[in-house]
Parts: sequence; structure tokens; C-alpha cells
Amino acid sequence: MTATSLVPRPALEPDSTIGILGGGQLGRMLALAAARLGFKCHVFSPSPDSPAFDIVHRVTCADYGDTQALDRFAADVDVVTYEFENVPADTATFLAARVPVLPDPAILATTQDRLVEKNFVAGLGIRTAAFADVASPAHLQAAIERIGRPAVLKTRRFGYDGKGQVTIKNGTDPDAAWREVGGQPCILEAFVPFEREASVVAARGHDGSVECFDVTENEHRDHILKTSRVPAALSDADAAQARRIAETIAQKFGYVGVLAVEMFALRAGELLVNEIAPRVHNSGHWTLDGASVSQFEEHIRAIAGWPLAKPIRHGRVEMTNLIGREVEDYRRYLTMPGVAVHLYGKAAVRPGRKMGHVTRVFEK
Ligand code: AMP
Repeated sequence: MTATSLVPRPALEPDSTIGILGGGQLGRMLALAAARLGFKCHVFSPSPDSPAFDIVHRVTCADYGDTQALDRFAADVDVVTYEFENVPADTATFLAARVPVLPDPAILATTQDRLVEKNFVAGLGIRTAAFADVASPAHLQAAIERIGRPAVLKTRRFGYDGKGQVTIKNGTDPDAAWREVGGQPCILEAFVPFEREASVVAARGHDGSVECFDVTENEHRDHILKTSRVPAALSDADAAQARRIAETIAQKFGYVGVLAVEMFALRAGELLVNEIAPRVHNSGHWTLDGASVSQFEEHIRAIAGWPLAKPIRHGRVEMTNLIGREVEDYRRYLTMPGVAVHLYGKAAVRPGRKMGHVTRVFEK
């Protein structure tokens, strides 16, 4: 796949306006990084209580299908990017005809569909869990016979934080699992008995240069990222392999911006790609306090046509998400040595909702 979208040339001047689709915490942190470099941001989001709205120059609160609002948005910005991967393809295509959209919207077609994504990764010679296309209950039976149990049934589209997933264990009735995922097109994946989960956040610039942050080890609770630790407890050879995988994917996409590749690490030498996030990623939040440049700044640099920075990590780093009511405890972190507190300004606390995070940098 090659980039087809317009590209801002020459590089954007400070004072240019960056358009961001999506107004969650990722959009907010992108906008903060953009502001530090002198850019203005215009956030487009359908939800009135978007955390990114609080801190930007201009906002549009409209549906992604509102072409008049999209037209006005496109006219106001010098480049468009997104903070979440489920931007409707029509929205991205509409904008890309008017203003540079980076990363290229064509990449979304791959990463929005787990089956297409897995085939793309496998086609690069990169390993994934065994998987099968499941379009009907009969397919599911056949897939279970081929892949075995335990296995994980995942909807092809719109899954995140474990949503749209059912584990098929020994006693699980396949028909019940099929109903549980809403009878939508799915993939069945072999359950991976991983030793640890890791991710690589990588930035690719206009010129094809790539900078990878150090490999991060991730611990999930209830399918939601709870803690990231850097460096991951991998051998140097495995860490280098993980970075090579991320770089290969970024190059093949002709990517411009930051992406994250989530992986399962089995025994030494065995890394399987789980998924690709075509955006800044929760497992890269540690870079705000733990490295000389953050994932958010790298993304802004890339889409602005600026050179990437070489990230230098300040030490061992641990990032913990404040999920749901955990945020009410934020004060206890304020006085801890080496700890930075980030609150996303979300009014409503809901179970499972990411409300903030804390980063702790340990001396080298
Ligand atoms: P995903 O939405 O694919 O990122 O999955 C969310 C989490 O579920 C992962 O980070 C893993 O902890 C777990 N998971 C997903 N797929 C598998 C698998 N095939 N084997 C084992 N655990 C999995």
C-alpha cells in the first residue's frame, strides 16, 4: 500500500492549524504537544463533552457525516489527523479530497478490520496467532475444529479494550458465543499462552525515517491496559526484533505519523503481532514524562513535515492508568517523588473509563 493522500509541502510553519478528528484524551494530549510547537488545533468531534475541546483554539461539534461541517473544518485547517481508528472511511475520504489527511486514510481500511489486518501482517512474513475467517455459525464450528480450544472469537470491526470478544473454552457452546458477539463477521484466533504483552510505538516521517520508542511491557486488567513498564523484560534480540516488526509495518504502509504495534511474547525468540493501532497509543503515554520527546510530539512533527526527534529515555518508567473511580485517588500521587499526574478532564466517571494516568520515572 502506498500513500495516496495530499501531503503538506513544504513543512508547516508554526501558527498553522492542525485538525484533529476525535476529541478524547489522545486528541487532548496531541493538541497539548502541538501547542508547545506553536501550532493551533481545531478538534472535530460529535460529542459535546469531548476532553480535547477544553484546551484548543477551535472546535466543531458535529456528526462525522455532516458534510457542511466537514467542509468548514477542512477550510480552516492545514492538515488533518485522527486520534482514533474508527473514523468512518467516508469522512476521511471527503476530507482527503480537500486537505492533506495523515496518516493516509487508506491505512484505516486495513486496521479497521481484524481479518484484513491479520492478512496484511501475515503477508509481510510476520507471525500472528493462527486465525480463521468466521462469517456464520457453520464457519465457527469448522474454525474451532481447525484452530482448537481455547480460542478467542473477535468481531472483525469496532472491537477495543476486549469489547466484541468471547473466549471459547472447553465447555463453551459455539452458538452462544456467536450470539454473544452479535452474529457479526468475526475472526477466530488461537488463544496465545503468552509470557508477556509488549508494544512498540513507532513514528515515521515524510522522508521515510523511522524512530521507535523503547519496547513497552503491558499489563491488562479486565482487557483494559492497566500498567506499562519500560523497558520490557525482553532479551536485546527480541526487543530489536519487536522494533523491526513495527518499522516494517510503518514502511509498508508508507505511514506518516505514530502507530503502535501490540505483540504477544512467548518463549524467547517468538513474537506474535496482535494488532496495529494507527494512532498514538495508551502504551506510549510514558513518553510524556519518561523520554526526551513524546509520542504526541513525534506525531505532530511527522504530520507537519518536520524532522522526527531521536527519543532518549530518562530511566526506567512505569505508567499506570487511572480507570473509573481510581481517579478520585489522584491526590496521593501528587507528592510522590518522580511521579507525574495526568487528568483528562472528563466530567463523568464510569466503570472502565480511562480518566487519567500517572507516570513514575525511576533513576537510572
Ligand atoms: P485486543 O482487543 O485484540 O487487543 O485484545 C485485548 C486483550 O485480550 C489483549 O491485550 C490480550 O490481553 C487478550 N487477548 C486478545 N487476543 C488474545 C489471544 N489470541 N490469546 C490470548 N489473549 C488474547
